[in-house]
Amino acid sequence: MPRVLLLLPTTTYRAHDFLEAAARLGVEAVVGSDRDQVLQDLQPARTVTLDLQHPEAAADQVAAFAAQRPLRAVIATDDDTAVVAAVAAARLGLPHNPPEAARAARRKDELRSLLSAAGVRAPRAALHPLDADPGGLALRQTYPCVLKPIFLSASRGVIRADDPESFVAAFRRLEALLHRPEVAERGGDAARLVLVEEFVPGVEVALEGLLFAGRLKLLALFDKPDPLDGPFFEETIYVTPSRLPGAVQRAIARTAAAAARAVGLREGPVHAELRVNDRGPWLIELAARSIGGLCSRALRFGTGHSLEEVVLRHALESGAGTGERSLAAVEREPRPAGVMMIPIPRRGILRKVAGLQAARAVPGIEDITISATIGRTIEPLPEGSSYLGFIFARADAPATVEAALRAAHARLSLAIDPE
Ligand code: ADP
Repeated sequence: MPRVLLLLPTTTYRAHDFLEAAARLGVEAVVGSDRDQVLQDLQPARTVTLDLQHPEAAADQVAAFAAQRPLRAVIATDDDTAVVAAVAAARLGLPHNPPEAARAARRKDELRSLLSAAGVRAPRAALHPLDADPGGLALRQTYPCVLKPIFLSASRGVIRADDPESFVAAFRRLEALLHRPEVAERGGDAARLVLVEEFVPGVEVALEGLLFAGRLKLLALFDKPDPLDGPFFEETIYVTPSRLPGAVQRAIARTAAAAARAVGLREGPVHAELRVNDRGPWLIELAARSIGGLCSRALRFGTGHSLEEVVLRHALESGAGTGERSLAAVEREPRPAGVMMIPIPRRGILRKVAGLQAARAVPGIEDITISATIGRTIEPLPEGSSYLGFIFARADAPATVEAALRAAHARLSLAIDPE
């Protein structure tokens, strides 16, 4: 039985789906996590504690483990573990992304520099220290612009500013977020920097792909039908296949492939966010991992395989030198599908989610998962970092999927108490 290491931080949403994929493929999954106790109930015998915040140290720990129990693949499940996986796989001689490419995809400022050097269309960006004077910076900006941290994800801390006054307010808000102890610790030096970009108007899409020795295979392209114009950029609805014209979709795929080349990513999953306007596609974000949250459940491949199975098979087969042959033909099921990340309307203690039964009864709705914990504080963007839950739908047409997601969401009501 081949053995793989799944890098699953304790905060991940994806443990269940990756472990299930491993079980379905008949591979032994070892869970590498940052704390030992949390995941042990999922798979008690097979966990290893890793210093996931420090990729070199984690890679040493992985190498020590692999010396006793050889590994066929090291699988990243989020942005931080993408770097750990690249460094550890390099150490073990497994096919991998170059560690410096994984690191660059992890840092929004480095991503911007590499894209710009390679001529991939992306917003102009400037990096500023967090202790700069925002009033002075505000006067030198062109508007609208977007302020963001360079190391967080899921739109956390991403704020649009339309004028000097809102720039200063956004800067202060980002500063407060970056000063939170857990954020400052996680970011280290990166938590003392702010990236300011030109705001790119347009519609937004998310692309899910798989790299085979540097060649990008498109797995799914999602439309995001809700406008993402700020000031915060909460993701809500994703629907695939895209309703954009074929030529636009092909241009999007070419831009994402050029971005992966520019960064130097070569193996495994990529998740990209692009905007499209009359000048064509713009690369907003490229990550060396598969889609986050529970969104992968909107995707099925071939005869019903999950995205996690595809990612695992790719890692196993590229290790065996046969990845291209067996997975190159894998396709998403033809049926339109979508997911809604349920918006968090305001900060407070979540008391109750009502209307679930009625929401689940909407035709086309396949599942609704509430991932927030009743009795705990929920926090919206730009500060928040977790999801309230996910609604999944399938139907005959993308528009029907979108309508089902909206109808189900309208049937939910949240009881949120002030703290
Ligand atoms: P994260 O990795 O945290 O998701 P992104 O840089 O991808 O951060 O930004 C999150 C979202 O904010 C994007 O999906 C997009 O909707 C919006 N956004 C970010 N940068 C820009 C920009 N320069 N112009 C327009 N929208 C942007």
